[in-house]
Amino acid sequence: MSQLPRPPIAVYVHIPFCPTKCGYCDFNSYAMEGEIMESTTLATIAEIRRSPWAGRPATTIFFGGGTPTYLAEGQLLRILEAVLESHPPVDRAEITSEANPGTVDIPKFKAMRQGGFNRISLGAQSFLDDDLVRLGRVHRSGEIERAVSSAREAGFDNVNLDLMFALPNQSRHGWEKNLDRALALDPEHLSLYCLTIEQNTAFYKERLRGTLPLPDDEVQVEMYEQCVRRTKEAGYEQYEISNFSKPGRACQHNLAYWNAMEYAGYGPGAVGMVRDDSGLGTRYTNLKHPDGYVAAVAAGKALAFESETLSESTLRVERLMLGLRLNEGLDVEGLSVDTKSLDRLVNRGWVERSGQIIRLSAEGRHFCSEVALELI
Ligand code: SF4
Repeated sequence: MSQLPRPPIAVYVHIPFCPTKCGYCDFNSYAMEGEIMESTTLATIAEIRRSPWAGRPATTIFFGGGTPTYLAEGQLLRILEAVLESHPPVDRAEITSEANPGTVDIPKFKAMRQGGFNRISLGAQSFLDDDLVRLGRVHRSGEIERAVSSAREAGFDNVNLDLMFALPNQSRHGWEKNLDRALALDPEHLSLYCLTIEQNTAFYKERLRGTLPLPDDEVQVEMYEQCVRRTKEAGYEQYEISNFSKPGRACQHNLAYWNAMEYAGYGPGAVGMVRDDSGLGTRYTNLKHPDGYVAAVAAGKALAFESETLSESTLRVERLMLGLRLNEGLDVEGLSVDTKSLDRLVNRGWVERSGQIIRLSAEGRHFCSEVALELI
């Protein structure tokens, strides 16, 4: 009897190393180097090879972190090779690596391009050195321009820049200068996020001490509106609250998350979401610290330290929260949205409705969480 083809899946690989820990960072990243990088590389390859989802084609592949490009290109490419073997990519699959400007050069980008990566996401964050120092980043602004030009020279025609606004002491003028420099580089994609202060970060402690002077809410709203206006003028389409792309260059990997599609996660702290044959989803998180992860792989132990079966009600809440972020809107058919709440939001001007599709208005984008909570 012939076997049914296995359904495709998005693939995420987490590389948990960074040269230093930034003041605002609550990602699973560690300022470690040396032998642990090689042992984590080998463990990640072993995890990918023994994955229960091996054999499912990859719709997209995304290396995030941490700083994937803090690994040597040989390590990065050995992990990619394992992914490509276990998850043969679909035709024209997007294969992204995050990269930090201070950890790349033309030979590294060339090796990555030849190895199969076809998209680079650069953590630029700011084009002003004072901001970069304040954030604790290791790169300086000139390195961003050099990194983009190196990526182009290596053959990457799909480049994203991540930038953050509402930084300590940042003015509207400072943010405008950032947008000028970013747009001058003509990237295919821009992710523009408002800085959020997470617990267990150095910035959180500073805010408690009162030594973190952040722009007030009104200025943050204006900065966001600068993002929307400037990107639109430059020919970008906004397809998600914080994401803007040239036509046809939306990030397919992020769209997979936002559309609640399945994804396999590999590496320390990686998160995955997979469904069983009945469609029931499970989300798991791998052991976070590289030492514990490497030891668990070597001992053949379970790697997930957290695993949650996603009930229908959890899935409904997530579909609402994530779908509302997308500019194409959300089909509320079957989501049991309260009609009175929806009418109220439409009358308030925060939500637009067209049949079963709802989407946030320009004003509503400032209140995504409030809208989602009201609809839930
Ligand atoms: S580069 Fe990114 S992941 Fe690494 S410490 Fe800074 S914010 Fe965290």
